Amino acid sequence: MHTSYTELAHRISEGHRLTRDEALEILSADDEATFDIGHAASTLRHQHFGNTVKVNYLVNLKSGLCPEDCSYCSQRLGSAAEILKYSWIKPEEAVRQGSLGVVGGASRICMVASGKGPTDRDVDRVSRMIEGLKESNPDIEVCACLGILKDGQAQRLKQAGADAYNHNLNTSEDHYAEICSTHSFSERVATVNQAHDAGLQACSGLIVGMGESPEQLVDAVFSLVELDSESIPVNFLMPFEGTPLEGTWELTPLKCLRILSMVRFAAPDKEIRMAGGREMHLRSLQPTALLVVNSLFLGDYLTSEGQSAVDDLRMIQDSGFVVLGAEDRDLVAEHEAYLQAHQQDLSDADTGAEESTAPAQAVAPCGQVASCSKENGASGSVPLTIRRRGVGTSVAPNA
Ligand code: SF4
Repeated sequence: MHTSYTELAHRISEGHRLTRDEALEILSADDEATFDIGHAASTLRHQHFGNTVKVNYLVNLKSGLCPEDCSYCSQRLGSAAEILKYSWIKPEEAVRQGSLGVVGGASRICMVASGKGPTDRDVDRVSRMIEGLKESNPDIEVCACLGILKDGQAQRLKQAGADAYNHNLNTSEDHYAEICSTHSFSERVATVNQAHDAGLQACSGLIVGMGESPEQLVDAVFSLVELDSESIPVNFLMPFEGTPLEGTWELTPLKCLRILSMVRFAAPDKEIRMAGGREMHLRSLQPTALLVVNSLFLGDYLTSEGQSAVDDLRMIQDSGFVVLGAEDRDLVAEHEAYLQAHQQDLSDADTGAEESTAPAQAVAPCGQVASCSKENGASGSVPLTIRRRGVGTSVAPNA
């Protein structure tokens, strides 16, 4: 058993690359050792990113209606999850929604659409959105996430001004067939490589808690390191009712912290993001996790709700961190004032979706729909709440 994680972090800071055995040892460590591991990982985080947190903001351009069968996904073929379903939102709505994330301190807007991959017409449509967003927010970074790319599409997105392309590996090659049968791990790898070849930054990460073994998790992380993914989102499975992984609760807050720490040891200088599911799986350890990761999504996810954006910003501030690019601003105060001043405009917005099939349900101002909430059966009390606000609805977004 490795007894000094601090020493391991020191060796990594001097060029040592985490070995598989070391990675497995971190994952299998006792709960009591976890804060020592997190502390050691935090020295690497501090070395490369100081006290900054990169804030990213998701805009779901097209929701549900996907022909693929990724078992973790609420938008999959045959999903009975009662998510919002809508086709492409209008370019001007995408720009408006993305700009709201900028107000919240986001330095990167992630434009995401469901589906196996885009047609050339889809790429043109998203290119217009990127150009519009860059025109109104010249300093913002844009990441596109449209699925598996065909030849030339990454270049087209780059020409439109995209900075990055997201395509997660999600899990290891030998676990991939367990979670998806309609496309392969190698197709995912090829898309990450296409993004790189076109000069886009690669954003590629994981979903943990899907039945993978520790060895498979390590394989997935090492694949991401090998692919030189500049940004690594770590998602914690949100087991939507109506999907094959419904009822799968494998994670605890301390286990999540060990996973994030292992990723930091493996990729010390990469942007590591605590992504979807952090609220229900890390729970009260979210601020502790900020010592290890340097990035998060503000507000809501694609089809589920996150904690309030103001709470995210307050968590960052209270933990002694600053939002990258907004180091001298009091974003909590600014954000609260903005929301107060614009509440009416935000609520009056058109949904912007070309064909919305969102359920016509009464929605409370907080966006909660009681019938879609689910208690964490494993050990927690943070509900999985289907998103009923923001893009695709007429309710103000959590931004
Ligand atoms: S992850 Fe993407 S490709 Fe897979 S089912 Fe969901 S939307 Fe479709």
